[in-house]
This record gives sequence, structure tokens and C-alpha cells, in this order.
Amino acid sequence: MKAAEFLPEAQQMIAERGEPAYRLRQIYGALTKSLVRDWEEATSLPKHLREALTEEVPAAVLDLQRVSHATDGTRKYLFHTHDKHAIETVMIPERGRNTVCISTQVGCAMGCKFCATGLMGIKRNLKAREIAEQVFVAARDIAPERVSNVVVMGMGEPMLNYEATLRALKVLNDGDGFNLAARHIALSTSGLVDKIRRFADEPEQFHLAISLHTPFEEERKEIMPIASRHSIPELMDAARYYVDTTRRKLFFEYTLLAGVNDQMRHANALADLLDHPLYHLNLLRFNWTDTGFSATSKRDAKEFLRRARERGLSATLRPSRGEDIDAACGQLAAKDLRGRPAVPLVPLS
Ligand code: SAH
Ligand code: SF4
Repeated sequence: MKAAEFLPEAQQMIAERGEPAYRLRQIYGALTKSLVRDWEEATSLPKHLREALTEEVPAAVLDLQRVSHATDGTRKYLFHTHDKHAIETVMIPERGRNTVCISTQVGCAMGCKFCATGLMGIKRNLKAREIAEQVFVAARDIAPERVSNVVVMGMGEPMLNYEATLRALKVLNDGDGFNLAARHIALSTSGLVDKIRRFADEPEQFHLAISLHTPFEEERKEIMPIASRHSIPELMDAARYYVDTTRRKLFFEYTLLAGVNDQMRHANALADLLDHPLYHLNLLRFNWTDTGFSATSKRDAKEFLRRARERGLSATLRPSRGEDIDAACGQLAAKDLRGRPAVPLVPLS
């Protein structure tokens, strides 16, 4: 079932050539378990089938152009798609975990004011295979170590590419596929309320993070255009639906921007807003992008964390990784190879 949805061209080819149906499972296993990038590596398949696949269904849909290594061990992968778009993926080794941060779109339509991807505008959605393959490439690259976590926090708003993203995550989670536990997969959204509800209703136990960035309505509108579409109370209704339905922890992402959202009044209001024991506040410091914002000092960030905790919030301050190769959150902005201007930002209201 997952194989057919993930690989419709392979399924069609198998049917047309009168191959036995189990071949599709073998093809799916070769890509998602053996991580082949060339059908010649798929030795469980007969030669004639490998040759036919090579002609008709490529084993690799992304072209790996470059791997950059940061001093802290973070790696960034630059890919080209078949239609010459550039996308980026990051692998972060940390305390025995290897987390891969994947992209779901070329660019992003949401236009958050502090984010390098947001500056690009949107070019197109990625297909499920393009999304999942980012993980397969990182997994091959770090073998024999294993990918332990996947976070959908790279380029793009995953909930504006919902079907393809979920299809990819289901393959990553599939016991007959990449076989990564759903609890080790997390998706971050800028807050599309209908999709948050839909995500809550998915059977898999994927984790969710909502990018909040300020507890104040008017201030949120200034930095995140989506705030003009969904008010904070609407967003919190969806958040409540998520925790009530899933009984899972819900993460709120909060990028500290100096002088914008890092005052004590913000910490106090957050404590009132995030009033559920399953809510967790994830603070991160702003990573430099050419957007006119600057980072809160480490000292002030710790003070903000202390205040949030003092007010009863479950909260952590996430260290930034891979900054020397521009691989940190919000810094991914691979250049479009075709030099075309980005599609203008989608009007949100
Ligand atoms: N589009 C989704 C997921 C990708 S962004 C979302 O916005 O949630 C992942 C996280 O990085 C989001 O919380 C986003 O707001 C944050 N972010 C964006 N730019 C950043 C920057 N320059 N520094 C730190 N965090 C940033
Ligand atoms: Fe898009 Fe997320 Fe960047 Fe906002 S922060 S522009 S939603 S990628």
C-alpha cells in the first residue's frame, strides 16, 4: 500500500511488464531499507528488471551536489532537483543522536520576516520521494551510524505540502520501509490550524511543534504574516485539540529576537498562554540572516528561560548548531539555479 503510493511509476511498470506483484515490495525495500541510489546496487532484483528500472524509474531523484562539514560535526547537504532547483538538508550529531532536518518545499510562501527561506518566496512543493530521499542520503552518508531522529524543520511550510510530506513521513516510519519510530519524527509548522487538527487525527504518533514566536497578537502579525490569517486564540484552540486528541506533548518554537520578543513581559504572557501540562516551550536563539534582526544575548536568553520556568512553564533553550556553514534553523536558502525570480509571496489574508 505505502509502496504503491510512494512509487506509482514503479507499480505501473511492474503491471505493464507482467512482473509478479512482490517485485514492487523488493523495489520499495531497495530504496527505503538498502538505500540504493543506483539500480545496479539492488542485487535482489533480476538483471532485466534493474535495466528496465534504470531506463524508466530513477533510483535517485535528487542529485547530491555538495556536503559541507561544520566544526561541531553538523553536515549540510546541497541537492539539485531534476528541474534544477536547489534544496538543503542538515544532519546534526548530538549526544548519541543523529538528527536529520529535512525540507518540504523549494522556498516558502509564509514570509516570516526573520527567516532566510521566507525571503526566497515559494518555487514549488517537493514530492514525497524528494522529501524522503533527503533522509536516505544522510543515512548512507553516516553509516554505520544510524539516523535516530527526523525533524521537518528545513526549507518550507510542511503543512502547505501536507499530502507529500505525510506520505514521506509514513514511509520513514514504515516497518517495511525506513523503520524509524514515529516518536522520533517531528514536524514544525508556522500554525495552519486546519492542518494541525488533521495532523492530530493521523494514526501515527508523530510529534508536532508550532512556531509561536510571541504571545502577542499584534506583534506576531509584524513578524509572521500567517498571524493575520489565524489569531492566537484560534491557534490555541487547534493546539488544545491536538493534545486532547493525541495526549502527546506539544512543542512551541520560540526564536528569541533582540528587542522584539525577548522581554520579561513576553515570558510572563507565555506562561499564561501555554497553560497545559503537555505544552513545552522550545526557545532558540536567532541565527544570523540578512533580515535586520539580531540575536538575544546568551545571558538574556538564559534569563528568559529562567523566568518562563519560574512561572511554571516546561521550557528548554536549544543550542544552535552548524552556524559556520549556514546550516542553523532559518538559514537554509539554497540558491535557485535557474536565476528566476521567486513567485511572489502568497497573500495570506
Ligand atoms: N516552516 C516551518 C518549519 C521550518 S522553520 C516553521 O516555520 O515552523 C523551523 C524553525 O526555525 C521555525 O520555528 C522557524 O520560525 C525557525 N526559524 C526561522 N528562521 C530562524 C532564524 N533565523 N533563527 C532561528 N530560528 C529560525
Ligand atoms: Fe517558512 Fe518556516 Fe521560514 Fe516562516 S519560518 S518563512 S514558515 S520556513
